[in-house]
Amino acid sequence: MNTQHRVIRAPRGAELTCKNWVTEAAYRMIQNNLDPEVAERPEDLVVYGGIGKAARNWESFDKILACLRDLEEDQTLMVQSGKPVGVLRSHKHAPRVLIANSNLVGKWANWEHFRELEAKGLMMYGQMTAGSWIYIGSQGIVQGTYETYLSLADKHYGGTLKGTLNVTAGLGGMGGAQPLAITMNEGVCLAAEMEEWRILKRIETRYLDEWTSDIDKAIDRSLEAKANGERVSIGVCCNVVDLLQRLIDRNITPDTLTDQTSAHDALIGYFPEGLSVAEANTLREADPKEYESRSLDTMAKHVRQMLELQQRGAITFDYGNNLRGQAHDKRGVTNAFDFPGFVPAYIRPLFCEGKGPFRWVALSGDPEDIYTTDKALMELFPDNKGLHRWLHMARERIAFQGLPARICWLGMGDREKAGLLFNELVRTGKVKAPIVIGRDHLDTGSVASPNRETEAMKDGSDAVADWPILNALINTAGGASWVSFHHGGGVGMGYSLHAGMVIVADGTQDAEERLRRVLHNDPAMGVIRHADAGYEEAIDTANKYGLNI
Ligand code: NAD
Repeated sequence: MNTQHRVIRAPRGAELTCKNWVTEAAYRMIQNNLDPEVAERPEDLVVYGGIGKAARNWESFDKILACLRDLEEDQTLMVQSGKPVGVLRSHKHAPRVLIANSNLVGKWANWEHFRELEAKGLMMYGQMTAGSWIYIGSQGIVQGTYETYLSLADKHYGGTLKGTLNVTAGLGGMGGAQPLAITMNEGVCLAAEMEEWRILKRIETRYLDEWTSDIDKAIDRSLEAKANGERVSIGVCCNVVDLLQRLIDRNITPDTLTDQTSAHDALIGYFPEGLSVAEANTLREADPKEYESRSLDTMAKHVRQMLELQQRGAITFDYGNNLRGQAHDKRGVTNAFDFPGFVPAYIRPLFCEGKGPFRWVALSGDPEDIYTTDKALMELFPDNKGLHRWLHMARERIAFQGLPARICWLGMGDREKAGLLFNELVRTGKVKAPIVIGRDHLDTGSVASPNRETEAMKDGSDAVADWPILNALINTAGGASWVSFHHGGGVGMGYSLHAGMVIVADGTQDAEERLRRVLHNDPAMGVIRHADAGYEEAIDTANKYGLNI
């Protein structure tokens, strides 16, 4: 309903608009989430992941900024589904902002009820890092996707995807990282995407190399590239089911197969087959029920095609969008879960070491500050070859979007060391302004999501959501700069509950104390969660770091 076309960009430099750096960080990061370089549809406050928003509406957005400008060091701003609802008394080590987004009581935790509330202006969808103000553009997911494909390559192809054909779909905010992550692992990527503007955006940011609208041409080009051992990504502008059908008909089996359309949201995030983008948009407006029903039919076909290609030998996995859940629950594809999710297949061993998507942003806006942190991290961890390789490639291949940022997967112990190092860089003036540190909600100890992060837990505790709540509580107690608790991120309403934290390194002694607590406790919750579920690797990690479990 919004007609405003405002261009939002975070302030840069070392001068404060707010009363201290902790609040200033929140002030800059909510705006950074809506930077046109960062957000998918900033005019609608949509950051990524279907309708994941930074604030409920423009009025709320403006009020949040106004509150942050005035916020004192002993106050905390309360945000309810993207709307600021009050400023309360706290203390200097407490979070400056507490955020709850999209949470619904279990029986009502579905899209239908959410949409009713949203239409009344009572709620917004926060996704994971959209409503918690620590989204850093497609690069945020590049490292996670790179790790997933690297882990797959280690398991099946001796550590490289060279000479393999990797098929996927969805080149949106998150999915757009897939082609780059695959070529970083030296493979060929063939990705279907319905919307031409998304493809062009990925080409522009160098995440995607080539594209065409001709399915056969795209397939031929990728086969040629596979034969030549090229590292190249090819986008094809079409519905994913048309690409997969053509592969099946031509008897071509990809080496790996996954998908990152926004299947978690059948109305907004997925295109039914047989319609152009314009036709689909018209139908969505005119008859949302019919649209949703056709979307789900297409998803059922999509999953069946993936199962067929899996049968033929493709290494097939779900990439965290609940495609299998939709086909299974809404269209009775009973064997939808015959292909695994990416977490149990490739990520859980990392979670057991407290590893996850650690990220940081230079509030100065100066890319040199990130290069300084890169260099300092490599010196801090001289033996971590994977980290060095990643940081070199990231510098070479990743274009910054919005405020310069970096991501790398760090585990228990190392996150705390990195945080203290950054605080020291700020204190000694080696970077030009404070550094803000955060992570995805998709992390070791912060999420309950039975079709994704907690799929197939060893003890069957997939749906136990006490863990992310404890995570949010301990991060609040430890003094994170802002803490968030959301519902429905990644996989949609009813399927996940998850917590976020962000902490500012402003070079002060106070920050150092908070960093020591928060960057210890946050990954520790992940190690404890996995140790409690019986994972040996997590128990070993707990012993190694002397965690009292
Ligand atoms: P997005 O909404 O920005 O992009 C989805 C893209 O899929 C769009 O570009 C859309 O045009 C395309 N698409 C939809 N239906 C299609 C079809 N039938 N054929 C071809 N293209 C189609 O979403 P995003 O931020 O890229 O996230 C994608 C999904 O991945 C979401 O479900 C999200 O929750 C999930 N996700 C996964 C992870 C992870 O770590 N695996 C992390 C975050 C999000």
